[in-house]
Amino acid sequence: MANQSGRHFLQIPGPTPVPERILSAMSRQMLDHRGPTFGEFGLKLLADVKTIFKTHNPVIIYPSSGTGAWEAGLVNTLSPGDQVLIVETGQFAVLWRNMAERIGLKPEVIPTDWHSGADANKVEARLKKDKSHDIKAVCVVHNETSTGARSWIDEIRKAMDAAHHPALLMVDAVSSLGAMDLRHDEWGIDVTVAGSQKGLMLPPGLSFTAVSQKALAASKKAKLQRSYWNWDDMIAINAAGTFPYTPAIGLLFGLAEAIAMLHEEGLENVFARHERLAEATRRAVRGWGLDTWCRDPRSHSPAVTAVAMPESHNADAYRKLVLENFNMSLGTGLNKLAGKAFRIGHLGYTNELTILGALAGVEMGLELAGVPHEKGGVTAAMAYLSETVRPATAKA
Ligand code: PLP
Repeated sequence: MANQSGRHFLQIPGPTPVPERILSAMSRQMLDHRGPTFGEFGLKLLADVKTIFKTHNPVIIYPSSGTGAWEAGLVNTLSPGDQVLIVETGQFAVLWRNMAERIGLKPEVIPTDWHSGADANKVEARLKKDKSHDIKAVCVVHNETSTGARSWIDEIRKAMDAAHHPALLMVDAVSSLGAMDLRHDEWGIDVTVAGSQKGLMLPPGLSFTAVSQKALAASKKAKLQRSYWNWDDMIAINAAGTFPYTPAIGLLFGLAEAIAMLHEEGLENVFARHERLAEATRRAVRGWGLDTWCRDPRSHSPAVTAVAMPESHNADAYRKLVLENFNMSLGTGLNKLAGKAFRIGHLGYTNELTILGALAGVEMGLELAGVPHEKGGVTAAMAYLSETVRPATAKA
């Protein structure tokens, strides 16, 4: 019989645990979504959500998962047969590419070894060769949730500028928003795609496209079919704080609370917390004598760590054992990582003790499964976390 006492440790990289404050905020009675009270709420929410994307431009909110926002970004800005350049950092880049192909675009992939983020130099080199500007969009996953590798979007922007290329820059921030710094305006992103169930600490069900003026201009000429995803309807009706169709009202109540929580902590503190918990996790992995799937130190994700399983063992059998014995869900390995890696999510509503509890479960699981490892991973993580306690807290 599986151990189900105590709190379940949901350590997958999304959906992430939802704070009590957000759960309470969502359990309110519904409103007339075309009435004045909702309109007032909607106006404030649509303004406030921009602060999380660091943009002054529209952020369009859909009742959908992140995949829907991928589609919205593509169909609003592009036309059948347009070329798009996608850096294949991992499984989510693969899925984005497949979607582009299905909807009638011509995706071209810049491969990676799946052990690092996007290489801006390769993007620049490819764009420089595209003298006739056939490539209409460059798509990069900010945080590749499948491998635990981040990409540096400011560098991609610089690469595009250095190539003097007019393509749109589309960024998947599904697992980075609210966990890693994202500057939609400053980094010249044209479409930022995001979802609710990760750094925003909400249940799944909301997705976002933050757009630039350039993306809006492109949408006036884009010929791909769109109806539900159409930005024009959204932007026109959002001007009154309302939506062209029934919004996910409960989730929007939760979103308002999530934004308040992120600002109470301070966005920079939120990002620093994620960096610190990620570093503690990596020290634990090293302490066990294991490897992170991401091999490039600059690419380590602050949101999720994929751990390479020694070849003698299957990562999914290990995850099953951890779930049954310690009531903890770890992320499965996707695509090339299937059976070969497990993922530890450390994003969203997470603190030192949650991550240490999770790491203790991982270490006990390694022992139980007979995975060759060294002792002391959790100790290394604890040592790092105590050394780096914020001074105000330490003095208290
Ligand atoms: N992009 C990334 C980086 C993701 O991590 C995910 C989901 O995990 C998606 C896109 C797809 O989002 P959804 O599952 O909400 O459709």
